[in-house]
Amino acid sequence: MNKPLLYCVEDEESIRGLVAYVLTGHHYEVHTFEGSTSFWSALEKRRPDLILLDIMLDDEDGLTILRKLRSQPATAAIPVIMLTAKGDDMDKILGLEYGADDYMTKPFNILEVKARIRTIFRRTTMMQRE
Ligand code: CA
Repeated sequence: MNKPLLYCVEDEESIRGLVAYVLTGHHYEVHTFEGSTSFWSALEKRRPDLILLDIMLDDEDGLTILRKLRSQPATAAIPVIMLTAKGDDMDKILGLEYGADDYMTKPFNILEVKARIRTIFRRTTMMQRE
């Protein structure tokens, strides 16, 4: 079986490194992107099984990216976990309204991110079986 493919869009290099290091060690294939331009071009070539999406990015913000993903049939169903800055409640609410599956507040525990990814995959696998 192929490893699930994760895309992580995050402008902080340390977080990208951590996500890639830990999740690759847990049998995921992880691709990280510093901003939306490289993310969109990668998405055209290969669709991931899940996206970790930061909100505050240099080029296009995460909520705009999320809305675009949800508006296109090819990407509308990809699970998305938003990564929000601490205490930004409005971001969380908007993220959920725009169709995020979950969100994590920074600074987050990477093992909790891993656990939440597993929960989402369990849920989507069960829906596929029904
Ligand atoms: Ca950021």
